[in-house]
Amino acid sequence: MRTIAVGLLATGVALAANADFIFINGRVISMDAKDTVFAGLAVKGERITAVGRARDVLAKEQGPKTQVFDLQGRSVLPGLIDAHVHALDAGLSEFRGALPPLDSIVAIQNFIRDKARTTPKGEWIVVPRTLPPRLVEMRMPVKADLDVVTDHPVAFDASYVWSANSMALRISGITKDTPNPPGGEVVKGADGEPNGILRNAAHLLKGAESTAPFTHEEELSALEGMLRGYAEAGLTTVGDRAVTAPEVSLFEELKRLGRLPVRVVLTWRPNSSRPVEEVVKEIGASPWTTNQGDKWLKFGSFKVTLDGGQSVGTAYQRMPYGPFGKQLYGQTNPDFRGTLFVDPDKLYKIFAAARPKGWQLTAHSQGGGAVDTLLDVFERLDKESPIAPTRSHVMHASFQSPAAMDRMKRMGILADVQPGWLHYDSPALGRVFGIDNLRDFFPLRSYLDQGIVVAGGSDHMIGHGKNNAVNPFNPFFNMWMSITRRTTEGKVLFEHQRITREEALRMYTAGPAYLQFSEKATGSIEVGKLADLVVIDRDFTSCPEDDIRKIEPLITMIGGKLVYTASSAPVATTKTEATAK
Ligand SMILES: [Zn+2]
Repeated sequence: MRTIAVGLLATGVALAANADFIFINGRVISMDAKDTVFAGLAVKGERITAVGRARDVLAKEQGPKTQVFDLQGRSVLPGLIDAHVHALDAGLSEFRGALPPLDSIVAIQNFIRDKARTTPKGEWIVVPRTLPPRLVEMRMPVKADLDVVTDHPVAFDASYVWSANSMALRISGITKDTPNPPGGEVVKGADGEPNGILRNAAHLLKGAESTAPFTHEEELSALEGMLRGYAEAGLTTVGDRAVTAPEVSLFEELKRLGRLPVRVVLTWRPNSSRPVEEVVKEIGASPWTTNQGDKWLKFGSFKVTLDGGQSVGTAYQRMPYGPFGKQLYGQTNPDFRGTLFVDPDKLYKIFAAARPKGWQLTAHSQGGGAVDTLLDVFERLDKESPIAPTRSHVMHASFQSPAAMDRMKRMGILADVQPGWLHYDSPALGRVFGIDNLRDFFPLRSYLDQGIVVAGGSDHMIGHGKNNAVNPFNPFFNMWMSITRRTTEGKVLFEHQRITREEALRMYTAGPAYLQFSEKATGSIEVGKLADLVVIDRDFTSCPEDDIRKIEPLITMIGGKLVYTASSAPVATTKTEATAK
């Protein structure tokens, strides 16, 4: 990163004078091709009109109404981009009340006891989605753990795998004689009785999911509120990674009403569990395609969910989950490798239908076996015509391999990564697979060394708190993880895969902008680009490494509008005598 000692870079006469905003005496970390750091920056309308020395920017751009912020050494970053969120689900998750942090079986039991006091006898208590690798006990709760109340059926939701208490099993008629549903399992304990764990079989529970539906206005408010939360975290664009028609309508309505606080790039995920002919027909009939829309709301990629999740032991791996999978996920077969939801031929047929419609392609592929399957299909498509121009990508790819990365490099495949999972999930996953088998768990250094474009994302899906949501969407936490690779146990997971803070910032700016086909408009601070900026409370380049996760945004500007201003933000002045160094 270099600080320039040259003069002003500005646009032509039409935009030159009378800026709306000028930032001076800051560290403007541009993320341009040369990683230049400027001291001054001017904004007019929705665009950046000048960067350079503070006094030059003031001299050329300041008019009588220009609002001047003196940053006193604080940094201005390009607006941050989270390439992977699920805004509606997250917004709704705490819309009717806060969820407690459930990080242990004891906390879960207290939650159940608390709920029982206010829930009429006989009514369901459902423990909101909690991931077993993130419980201090590192095990899936069984019915005995949930039998802390006896007058309520209780269910524990870990996504594909659920657990139920004795009353829940009884009123649902689940006994040792209940046949396993197709693809699912009623797990038995040592006594031959159901131990409460239901793998892909939660639908056997009668009445557990009967929550009151949300109204249309509630959905709009929840979505808007969540997007506002992103802006407060310093995010100016998010990629929403699994939308269908009803969600597309909600986003469009927010935009029409002037209530869309951040830019959104939508990933369409049709239901690929149906027969392939139906999926192909729906793709053909759809009016959508990549880049359709405008700079506030547009379509990004087309997605298939290829395998399950590492947090529930269903990600499709190259190796078996082994004995620890039994404790952590309630598995019964130590040779189990996870679940591939879509076979390679079906995936090929779906992608072969989507590509001619102009779609960028991706698949949720978390386990190594799923990554390899996706790359097999990309290779088949690449042979027909080069896939690189579509900027198609692997999504998650938690379990990488040098061979898979070579294939990505060769074909020009990008990566959508979740560095926060290194922190939360690697302690439990290390016990499942052995630490050595986590050597390629989000290998960020290897990606960058090979020139693979990496887009950082949180996979935020539950909760409103940027630091305690599942998954935390604080971009500074996720950057800190990419830099330190420090787990919840305080260990560094494979030091050689650490990246620099500038590279981490690129992963939350220019990288995702490129993945989203927006690199000409966003992702760096350059004259003529959209004025998407975040002012932070310290200098990003020199603050202690461990303080990076504590960085707080003071101002979030999107398209030249102040979308978020913290109470501790610097105050603008229109006085012409503002001094610049
Ligand atoms: Zn996701």
